[in-house]
Amino acid sequence: MGEFDLIERYFTRPARRASLGVGDDCALFSVTPGMQLATSSDMLVDGRHFLSTVKPERLGHKALAVNLSDLAACGATPKAFTLALSMPRADEDFLDGFSRGMFALADEHDCELVGGDTTQGPLNICITVFGEVPAGQALLRSGAQVGDDIYVSGTVGDARLALEVFRATMVLEGTAFESVRRAMELPEPRVALGIALRGVATSAIDVSDGLLGDLSHILRRSQVGATLDVDAAPRSAVLAAQTLTIQRVCTLAGGDDYELVFTAPAGRSDDVLRAAKQAKVNVTRIGRIDAAPGLRLTDSQGAAVDNSFGSFDHFRS
Ligand code: ADP
Ligand code: MG
Repeated sequence: MGEFDLIERYFTRPARRASLGVGDDCALFSVTPGMQLATSSDMLVDGRHFLSTVKPERLGHKALAVNLSDLAACGATPKAFTLALSMPRADEDFLDGFSRGMFALADEHDCELVGGDTTQGPLNICITVFGEVPAGQALLRSGAQVGDDIYVSGTVGDARLALEVFRATMVLEGTAFESVRRAMELPEPRVALGIALRGVATSAIDVSDGLLGDLSHILRRSQVGATLDVDAAPRSAVLAAQTLTIQRVCTLAGGDDYELVFTAPAGRSDDVLRAAKQAKVNVTRIGRIDAAPGLRLTDSQGAAVDNSFGSFDHFRS
């Protein structure tokens, strides 16, 4: 199968919102007046961002999901995306599954594939998403204020737990393994929550590298500090059944969660809960923003906890 047949067969669908989609030198689409265009790219590299054990359909889902998660963190509504794909050969089973998984998620978010590039090489997937946000209303990393509450959506830590099972440092059986594997391979970008938090959250970021690391980006950009209750981070029943150390490492330094961490004024907790309800996702308060720079960790009793979660490998000790 040649390059153009492949594009035609797996990646070309009639243009919908775009006035020109796949097939010309550029795609064309309009931005709604009064809205700003939000754009972001994420690359997935074989062996580094996914394992060869992942089903193509789930890989298609995840490649788009991690990009939609960036739009979610900015409070943007997805509109369109491009796909740059490099692969060793035109494997029809792979292309069929990959495109089905990707388009299923794209349709869920009414986000249209408008172009891309296809080339032979190591398996590598780069998606660029385009979204819209009312001018001036994008959620940024830089807006956290002293006294704000810090929240996280959903649960965190399962993706890391699944990774450790694949690395054979942990053992999980049956449905427990299936549920954490799902979290790793099929993350749900929190698009509805990001949109509902416009005008409510003062800052936001999506958790791709681990809760503590990503929260630190907010603190640095906002020039504030924070105190975090390490045991407040929401976790699944499967993770809650592990040792406390493993729970803390997975929830705080796990990564690949694609939940939103955000801040909001303490007086607006009702609005936060309303946004969460509207988006049909749980949010949990895990700490507060302070004036003193840096990140202070406490347990649920308020006793100080050392931040050693990223620095040595608890799974190999
Ligand atoms: P050009 O040579 O102008 O870069 P290409 O031959 O690479 O164009 O691509 C032809 C058309 O197919 C373009 O509209 C491009 O956007 C689209 N396209 C190429 N690869 C993909 C892909 N993986 N997914 C979607 N569209 C693609
Ligand atoms: Mg090209």
